[in-house]
Parts: sequence; structure tokens; C-alpha cells
Amino acid sequence: MAYSVPHLKDFSPAALDRAVGELLSALDQESGQVGDAAQRKAFRDRWLARKDGILTQINELWLKAAPREAKRDVGQRVNKLKAEVEAKVEAALAAPVREAAAALDISLPGLRRSIGAEHPIVRTMNEILAVFRNLGYSVAEGPVIEADYYNFEALNFPPEHPARDTQDTLFIANQASKPPRERLLLRTHTSPVQIRTMEKMRPPLRIVIPGKVHRRDAPDASHSPMFHQVEGLAVDTNITFGDLKGTLDHAMKALFGSDVKTSFRPSFFPFTEPSAEMFVSCFICGGSGKRGADICRPCKQTGWIEILGCGIVDPNVFEFVKHNGYDPEKISGFAFGMGVDRMAMLRYGVDDLQLFFQGDVRFLEQFG
Ligand SMILES: [Zn+2]
Repeated sequence: MAYSVPHLKDFSPAALDRAVGELLSALDQESGQVGDAAQRKAFRDRWLARKDGILTQINELWLKAAPREAKRDVGQRVNKLKAEVEAKVEAALAAPVREAAAALDISLPGLRRSIGAEHPIVRTMNEILAVFRNLGYSVAEGPVIEADYYNFEALNFPPEHPARDTQDTLFIANQASKPPRERLLLRTHTSPVQIRTMEKMRPPLRIVIPGKVHRRDAPDASHSPMFHQVEGLAVDTNITFGDLKGTLDHAMKALFGSDVKTSFRPSFFPFTEPSAEMFVSCFICGGSGKRGADICRPCKQTGWIEILGCGIVDPNVFEFVKHNGYDPEKISGFAFGMGVDRMAMLRYGVDDLQLFFQGDVRFLEQFG
């Protein structure tokens, strides 16, 4: 039965001693039972609340009710009692939670908080960047929503140039009133960051550029309207195709193992001349084109896998940043670009690109 403050009729010292004793023993008992935060608040309110707490009731039921001749004695006792009750309540509230301590079983396994893991695309991207960082390259980034000028024109894609048709571009709507070179689009490659960086930094320059790019491709096992690239650019005096081959051959051995061979085949890109596609010997079948009795699908039985596009920077590109020290008569450079998503598919043996973007934890947690 919970303690409640009695209406006192007898104000003799003996009766007052008894009433105070009962109140304090009730407080001792209750203070031994407070547990969690909610119980502590209820306990405090019951004893100390200004409006209807037990201390307030004592004022009403004992002090105000006392006859005049007993007021002085009752007042002194009530003041002393108040101080004692307040101290005891505060002490009980400050004590450690006993229930929690009793429930602690140190032999139980701890709570494990899952902190997640790098997405396989991000991990692959970081591994590519690390290879080039070790060669002294720095990382440059730029906007995903880009102006036509940076995405095409300054990279030697003139307006109406047929090479623009190979990059199905997603333009931002309602820009007909703007001059064509200012129109915004979702960048189709990370190459605009080459121009943006050369505008800010004078040669020599060695950068790698990671990021998202977009093209109007229907999603399927090997296409996605959003994908990832890493590009590189090196500019200095006397950069040759030999520097390009040596750099990329080293990078591929660092990424795919020291056994892989590289092969360069002529190609075309508007911003490099000459241009090449680089292949690595298939690190899945060892270049044989076969896997046991079966054919090797990733290399389509050829023993080679196309990895990236590259070339010597076209002097026309340098003309756009000539004012910042990029005089094509004095400097030269090479550039390369690779698809990170395809690299991740090859490295982890994933046969459907869409798996990377569907956010299915059962797929992603395999890379934890
Ligand atoms: Zn193969």
C-alpha cells in the first residue's frame, strides 16, 4: 500500500515523531525501488512536485492545520523533514540503475553494429585511382550537369560533328533560348574535367578524373543510362605515345596481375590523335579463349578484353586552353578513359551490370 500523508489531529511531540518516522521509512522503501528513467521521474514528482507532491501536502495537512500553540514546533520539524526528504530523493535519483546492473550478462555476445562496405563500383574506382596516385597523379572532379562547351566543343566536337551522334546525350529541357554552347546536359564522359582543370592549372599536369556519366541507353545486362568512368590526362614537354603505353601497361599489371599483356589497336576519338583502344590479355582464361571444355565468354573466345580508349591529345584541344600555358607547339600530352562498371564486372565475375544499381542487399553484402 503506497504511503499517503495523513491528516494530523494530534500535534504532540510524540505524535509528530511517529508521523515523521512513518514518512521517512516509506521514503526509504520507495527509493530502493526506482529503476529506469520513467520510474525515477515518477518517484521525484511524487515526493517533490510543487503542485501535489508529498512535501507540499505536508505543508497543507501538517503545518497549516496545526493549532497556534504547536505551529512553532511543527514548523521546525517540517523544515528539517523537507531538507532530509530532498536529500534522500536526490541521492536515490543519482544512484546507478540497479536493475540494469543485475541484468548484465557479460557472457552474452555484444551488439554488433553493421557498418556496411564499399560498393564494388566505388571500390574498383578507388583501386584504379590508387594505381595512378602512386604514379604521382592527383584526383580532379567536376560537375555532372555540364555545358555543351565543356562536354563537346572544347574537346574538338564541333557543332554538327558526326561524332556527337555516338554519344546519345541527355539534354536539360527548355533551353532553346540559350546559345548552343551554353546549353546544359548530363555529361556523357568525364573529359570536360580535363578542360576545366587545364583552365585552372598550368602545365605540367597529371590528373585522374573519376565520376558518373550519363547517356541515353536503355538498361540491360551491359548498358545503363548512368555509369562510371575514370579518365587520365598527362601534359608536359615531350610526352610521347611511348609514355602512354608504358603508363597504361604498368597500370593494367597493377590492377589485373603482372602476367597480363597489353595490346594497342588504332581507333578514333575527336580529342586524341592518334587514338587507340587498349586490350589486355584475358585474365579469366589466361588468353586461351577457353575455360575447360567451354568457351570463355568475357573475352568472347579471343583471349583479349577491350579495357579503355586512349591517345595523344589533339593539338586542337590545347588551342582552347592555350592562354593558360598549353601551347601545342611546346607541350604535348596523352589521355585515357575507362569504364569502371565493366572493370568491376570483370574483376568480380558479375554478368549483369544492373545488379550493381538495384540496391539488393543480398547481392551487395557479398562484397563486404
Ligand atoms: Zn577469356
